[in-house]
Amino acid sequence: MIQVAGSSSVARAELAEIGRCRRLRTSPVRLKGAAKAVILKVMGSVCSRSRPNPNEVLVLCYHSVPSRPAFAAQMSIIAQTAYPVLSVSDFVAWLDGSRSFQSPAILLTFDDGYRDQLENAVPVLEAHGFPAVFFIVSGYVGRHAAWCEEFSSRCVPALPLMDDRELIELSRSGYAVGAQTQTHPRLSRLPPHEVEREVAGTRLALEDLLGREVDLFCYPYGDYDSVATRVVREAGFKLAFTVERGFVRRGDDPYLLRRVAVLGEPQGSEFRAYLSGVILDYWNVRNQLPASGGSASFLSAQSRRRNG
Ligand SMILES: [Zn+2]
Repeated sequence: MIQVAGSSSVARAELAEIGRCRRLRTSPVRLKGAAKAVILKVMGSVCSRSRPNPNEVLVLCYHSVPSRPAFAAQMSIIAQTAYPVLSVSDFVAWLDGSRSFQSPAILLTFDDGYRDQLENAVPVLEAHGFPAVFFIVSGYVGRHAAWCEEFSSRCVPALPLMDDRELIELSRSGYAVGAQTQTHPRLSRLPPHEVEREVAGTRLALEDLLGREVDLFCYPYGDYDSVATRVVREAGFKLAFTVERGFVRRGDDPYLLRRVAVLGEPQGSEFRAYLSGVILDYWNVRNQLPASGGSASFLSAQSRRRNG
């Protein structure tokens, strides 16, 4: 039982709202057909007021960006919120406590180095003046994404990846370039000497190519273990990102930073649900459903396609 100091009506209303939100987050909701939109709307009205807050940063994780208009619509929503979009140095300063923001802030990250990120995302980022981080698989520069998950038949779509010249141009334009191993393996499945080769090798290769320090890392498939995090730290990387869902908070382990993967091309209220954190509540509710649920299987299929 929560005691309300002073028992002001504002505080009582706030607590009632938090209580409704908690019940919604934990209630066994059954989603059918268009129920996803309804659930997002209800959660949006009830659950979004307290999150995110100035003590949290939302790190969005994009993969392929097939449509410039769809991406532009998302960036316009971010611009409307007026949440600051952080550079890496802003993010590091916030994480170590030397910088604060008045509102929730966002860091934009792009995985795998797809050429369509250059074609469809970068012009939009430039138009808004938004910084971003691009994580590159160094052994696949100038090739097509062709990595498959070991021990399964799942492969990413073989889309073209940025080449040497494009990466140099991206870096010179001021975008941060980070590393995502040499061949995009699941690091937890490799023996330690191969983890070291993947992690140290990708840093050297990208630094040689770009002529500047590369100190950001992201784990392919968001997959890591204690060996991977140790090797990443010892290789000289300063930050490493997972795809575990959630906001980054000050004091979080800099080698296990959470992100929220943007699945498909969410528009309008669905994209706003990413920014408010309501999408996390929605996914929590969805995870309580049987795996065969309609919307649940739709989203997990999207996730399989996009999370390579
Ligand atoms: Zn990847």
